[in-house]
Amino acid sequence: MTNLMLLGPPGAGKGTQAKEIATRHGLIQLSTGDMLRAAVSAGSEIGRHVKEIMAKGELVPDAVVIEIISERMDAPDCKGGVILDGFPRNLVQAAALDKVLEEKKRKLDAVIELKVDDNQLIQRIVGRFTCAKCGEGYHDRFKRPKVRGVCDICQSIEFTRRPDDNADTVNKRLMVYYRETAPLLGYYFCKGTLRSVDGMAPIAEVAKEIDKVLGGTK
Ligand code: ADP
Ligand code: ADP
Ligand code: ZN
Repeated sequence: MTNLMLLGPPGAGKGTQAKEIATRHGLIQLSTGDMLRAAVSAGSEIGRHVKEIMAKGELVPDAVVIEIISERMDAPDCKGGVILDGFPRNLVQAAALDKVLEEKKRKLDAVIELKVDDNQLIQRIVGRFTCAKCGEGYHDRFKRPKVRGVCDICQSIEFTRRPDDNADTVNKRLMVYYRETAPLLGYYFCKGTLRSVDGMAPIAEVAKEIDKVLGGTK
């Protein structure tokens, strides 16, 4: 069983790489952002509670995400290992994760940091869109569908853009990242699990770099 974490600012490529690794290594991507967005779309009680917070680019309460992640990890499909994408986001969540992993007798094999310049992050976020049907991620300039307007994976012609992927909210999300999430780099460095990868390279090259890191964890 391999359990990984992708760490990096909004737009760094965590979701993109998590999907690549999940497919190749038979792991399950656990994105708290995706789970929360699903709750918002479903109009559940949690969804109604977090909608405004997410739109503003703030973090939703720790207890909410800790509960979601802990429960999701117990599902049978997660037995082979998981990739944490977007969780934890602060030191309280990181400490809670340590406890959850210990209880579930899981070990975090590597924390992979994706390093990307701030200007590039903003460009990546404002150009991001997603297939409405299968969730495949795209970009107006950096990752266009092979046939314009048609999803490469499922041939759907419907795409969505996140309400929080606008220039105003992006700045707020970056601030939150530097204040709340960046300290986790030090936390995992001290635990000896942090591995840094150049996230500025093209998608396929970043994936190769991550594979190299994973080769070293086995
Ligand atoms: P995150 O999950 O970290 O917020 P995403 O994986 O959604 O980031 O990537 C943000 C946007 O940047 C997406 O539109 C994606 O297609 C694009 N992208 C991801 N990785 C790269 C890369 N290495 N080079 C260029 N664009 C990328
Ligand atoms: P990105 O990778 O672009 O930052 P995510 O999809 O990971 O976006 O997160 C979108 C929003 O969902 C965040 O801005 C925040 O409001 C909420 N969110 C996601 N994960 C967490 C988390 N672990 N703790 C608190 N809030 C979260
Ligand atoms: Zn699709």
